[in-house]
Amino acid sequence: MGYEKQENIAVTTSFSDNALSTTPREHDLYNKKDPVKSFEHKNKYELMYHVTKKIYSTMNPSDVLSEILNTIQSTYPNFACQLFLSTNINNDELPAKELIYNEEFAHKLSVQSFSTGEIKIDQNSLKNRTRLYAPLRGKQGIYGVLQIEVDKIIEFSSDTIDFIRFLADTAGNALENAQLYQQSTQLILDLQLINDITHQLNASLRLSDTANYLKEQLIKSFQVEDVAFILFDEEENFNLLRESSPYFLNTSLKWFENKIFPEIQSEKEAIFLGDFSKKYPECTVELRSIMIIPMIQSEHINGVIILTHHQPNFFSFNDFKLIQSIVHHSTLAFANSSLREQLELSVITDYLTKLYSRRYLDEKCEAHLQSGKQGVFLLLDIDDFKKVNDTYGHEVGDSLIIQVANIIQKNIMDIGFAARWGGEELAVYLPEVNIEDGMRVASQLVIQIEEQTDPLITVSVGIAYWHRDNRESMCGIFDRADRSLYEAKRLGKNGVAKVT
Ligand code: GH3
Ligand code: MG
Ligand code: MG
Repeated sequence: MGYEKQENIAVTTSFSDNALSTTPREHDLYNKKDPVKSFEHKNKYELMYHVTKKIYSTMNPSDVLSEILNTIQSTYPNFACQLFLSTNINNDELPAKELIYNEEFAHKLSVQSFSTGEIKIDQNSLKNRTRLYAPLRGKQGIYGVLQIEVDKIIEFSSDTIDFIRFLADTAGNALENAQLYQQSTQLILDLQLINDITHQLNASLRLSDTANYLKEQLIKSFQVEDVAFILFDEEENFNLLRESSPYFLNTSLKWFENKIFPEIQSEKEAIFLGDFSKKYPECTVELRSIMIIPMIQSEHINGVIILTHHQPNFFSFNDFKLIQSIVHHSTLAFANSSLREQLELSVITDYLTKLYSRRYLDEKCEAHLQSGKQGVFLLLDIDDFKKVNDTYGHEVGDSLIIQVANIIQKNIMDIGFAARWGGEELAVYLPEVNIEDGMRVASQLVIQIEEQTDPLITVSVGIAYWHRDNRESMCGIFDRADRSLYEAKRLGKNGVAKVT
């Protein structure tokens, strides 16, 4: 998309600062003798060579621009130069201003030169000065305008115009290269960040490690304030990970659940808003800058990550694109750690009751026996269960085992662990609980099961208590609980027994 050499040059004759008339003059105007001190062809090529060499030796646009201005100044001492740039180059020594090219300034010749890519000339007889505007053209765009001012009405020779055009284009190329170089440096940094994050995420497999690491990176690299990790399960319920920021842990996300998540589920698109509360005033959660990025794996949405900042319009579109890419790369790590945890849980969980497996409880008891001071082990067996199965069928039998498990879990959730010991036998371990409290828990279970099951059933409970002074093995404790259970059955069932 290179530029053709411009042959038509618009000259404006004006009597004010803001020239409105743009009637082109004949270009034979430039064939007249240039009143400004001209220079030898040889000299001109030397200067061109010098400037070109400079641009190839530096990536720094302000060096190139000052070289160009010096060249013009030394060749035409009565030319005053001014740059109008569309990008900031951070150099106070250069006579450079920001180019404002909105509608208000559209009539200015500097703006017209910028938007058309053409050289414009303004001869202002009232102020007795001539200005030339040369666009700073690169290969892909225009990066500003060079203004040359002379304190009289003059006509520039075509040689002079060609020379200035050459210098302005050199400046445009320098600015373009610098911008491309900066963009490619940023791109490399972005890729490095994605690479680092992906690498780390693939190394750590725990879900909480994955979430914590990603949260840290997002806060560090993008100044995100609050992060929420939400995973959807098979029934499309949402599960807010406890690694989310406290703000989200203490905020109801019901509105999101009803309004935003279904939208993301169906559209499979991320949401990027500069002022969330303005767009959704009906939502009671006050939020400004927000990104909601779905974790998509083979067309399926595993969940979303929400990122916020209290200032409106805080995140740039580049941030959004980069975070989208990071989330995309993290999705597999999330899915893997989540699957691994499900698998781990399924190994230690009884499929019917969702209590722990016997083996896991066994390990828990063993570990506590080594380090703890005392504990209570309960063994529960459903009374006359054969008869229940015969009367209501196996399915009802199964549902009764689940009902008993739920009653147990509700009672001991905060003080111990429950497991399916086998068949219709369930076990409970209460670490650091004394025998009196253990008895109370056991009796409470017997009563609640007798009252709350449907159809009504009863259980018998064998209890075994240990204290570290009596040095006992876990096998011994299990055996005592078993004998206690047998005793409870012998005493007429629907009760608790304890043998020594
Ligand atoms: P008791 O009061 O002496 O315990 O009498 P019981 O009939 O419960 O006798 P026991 O404990 O020996 O019998 C256990 C019965 O529980 C045998 C089996 O049919 C039934 N059972 C074991 N596991 C399951 C299960 O997972 N589902 C169902 N529905 N029944 C089971
Ligand atoms: Mg039994
Ligand atoms: Mg039984």
